[in-house]
Amino acid sequence: SELPEDPIMGKQRRQVTDACFSYVDPSPTAAPKLIHVSKEMLDNLGLTIEDSKSTEFLKVFTGNSVLDKTKPYAMSYGGHQFGNWAGQLGDGRAINLFEVVHQEKKWVVQLKGAGETPYSRTADGLAVLRSSIREYLCSEAMHHLGVPTTRALSLALTGDKVMRDVLYNGNPAYEKGAIVSRVSPSFLRFGNYELFASRQDTITLKTLVDFTIKHHFSHLGTPSKETYIAFFNEVVQSTLALIVHWQSVGFVHGVMNTDNMSILGLTIDYGPYGWLEGFEEGWTPNTTDLHQKRYRYGNQPNIGLWNLYQLANALYPLIEEVAPLEDALDQYRSGFPKAMVQMMREKIGLTTEKGKDIALIQELERLLQEAETDMTIFFRLLSKIEKADTSNGLEQVMEAFYTPSELSSSLREDWQAWFQFYGNRLQEESLSDIERKKIMNLVNPKYVLRNYMAQLAIDDAENGNYGLLEELFDLLKNPYSEQADQEKWFAKRPEWARHKVGCSM
Ligand code: AMP
Ligand code: MG
Ligand code: MG
Repeated sequence: SELPEDPIMGKQRRQVTDACFSYVDPSPTAAPKLIHVSKEMLDNLGLTIEDSKSTEFLKVFTGNSVLDKTKPYAMSYGGHQFGNWAGQLGDGRAINLFEVVHQEKKWVVQLKGAGETPYSRTADGLAVLRSSIREYLCSEAMHHLGVPTTRALSLALTGDKVMRDVLYNGNPAYEKGAIVSRVSPSFLRFGNYELFASRQDTITLKTLVDFTIKHHFSHLGTPSKETYIAFFNEVVQSTLALIVHWQSVGFVHGVMNTDNMSILGLTIDYGPYGWLEGFEEGWTPNTTDLHQKRYRYGNQPNIGLWNLYQLANALYPLIEEVAPLEDALDQYRSGFPKAMVQMMREKIGLTTEKGKDIALIQELERLLQEAETDMTIFFRLLSKIEKADTSNGLEQVMEAFYTPSELSSSLREDWQAWFQFYGNRLQEESLSDIERKKIMNLVNPKYVLRNYMAQLAIDDAENGNYGLLEELFDLLKNPYSEQADQEKWFAKRPEWARHKVGCSM
C-alpha cells in the first residue's frame, strides 16, 4: 500500500516485494499528437502506415486507451547507481503495454513518459520533448549503425506541460510533455536480478532467471546450475560485444548504472548520452559526473566489468560456486583488450594480425588526443590514404583537426612518423586501396547523431517544426553510406556547440 505523503520528502513509494512487476495503466494525456512514427518498426510489429494513422493507434501510443485483453505493467528493479547500491528503483516512467509476436520475433512495447507508476518515487513519471527526441533519434540511429539497442516506434506530444527544474528568472520552467513508445525483445536489466538477490529472495530470483532463460536463452536448455552458468557467460560476452561497439563508433552512454544494463546486451536508456567529437578518453556527456567522470568514454569497458561483477553476485545464490563466475569474468578481462585491438584494426583497415599492430594503434590513440581531432571525420578520411605513398597522410586528414593551424611542429613530426609506420604496415596487406577503403567505410560511420544535431532538431521541434527531426531520422538510417545531398552533416561540431551536452530529464 501507498505510504502517506511525507511533508518534506513529498510522495514516498512502496516497496514491492515477492513480485517482478506491478499492474499500472498509463495516465490519460490532454491533447496527444503524433510527431513521428518509424515505418521500419511498424513493419517489425506487423503494422502499416495506415494503422498508424488511426485514432486507436494515437490513443494507445499516448496512454489514452489500453487494448482489450492487455494489462499494462511496470517492472520492479534495483540498481547500483554511480557505484552505490540504490535499493528498489523500478520503471518510474515506463509502462509496458503488451507483447507482439510477428515473424517469429517477440517484442515488448512500452511507453516512456506515460505517468506515475508504483516506482516513480518522488518524480512525476513524465518525459519532456527534448529528452524524448534524443531517445527517439538515437536509438534508431544506433540500430542502423549495427549496435544492439532497444528500438523506438513512435514519438508523440502529450499536450501536457511538464515542470522541470530549469529556472528562467527564478520561475519554474514548464516544458512540452512527450511519450516515446519503445520496443525491445526484453527490457530486463541487471538491476532486476540484483533486487531479489539483495532481498535474499532466491525464490523470485529463480523465477525471474528461469523466465529469462525460457524466453530469451531457450537454446541453453532447462534450468540447472550449468544453465545458469552458461547464461551468465552469454551475458558477459554480449556485454563485451556491446561496449566494443560503443567504443568503435564513439558513443558514450553516460549513465552505466546497473539498472541501465540490458540482460540482452542492448543499449538501453538514452539519457545524457553523447558522441565523441574530439577523440578523448576522458570525455563524458553527463554533467552530474564531471568530477569523478566514472562513465567517461575510456572507462566504459571497466564499468562493464564492474557491472558484470554485480550481476555475478546477484546470480550467485542460484549457482553457489565462485569459480565458474570468476572464469566468465576473466574471459571479459582478458577478452576485452583483444577485442579492442581487433576493432581498431578494422577501423584502420587491417585484415591480418601482426604483433606491431598494438603499438601502431596505441600511438594512434595518443596522437588523436594530443590535439582535438574529430573521431568520425578522422577515420572516414583515413580510408582515402594510398598505401604506395603515405607521406601526405597528415594533409589527407587535416580536415579532422579542430584547430589545424595550432598543430605544433613536434606533433606534426609524430603524425608523419605514424603515417610512415602505417604505410609500412599497409604494405604487408594484400588489399588494394579501393578494397580497403570499402571495408573501412563499413565500420567507420560517415554520419552520427552529433550532440548539436539533436539539439537543432529539438529547438525546431519546440517551435512546432519537425522537418529537421525527419531529416536526421532519415539521414541516420544509412550512416555508412555517402549521401551526396547531406554533406553538411559530415562536418565538425560548430564552435557554439562546444561543451554543450545533453540532459536526461
Ligand atoms: P535513469 O537514471 O533515467 O536510469 O533513472 C533512474 C530511476 O529513476 C529509474 O527507476 C527511473 O524509472 C526513475 N526515473 C527517472 N526519471 C523519472 C521520472 N521523470 N519520473 C519517475 N521516475 C523517473
Ligand atoms: Mg534507467
Ligand atoms: Mg533514463
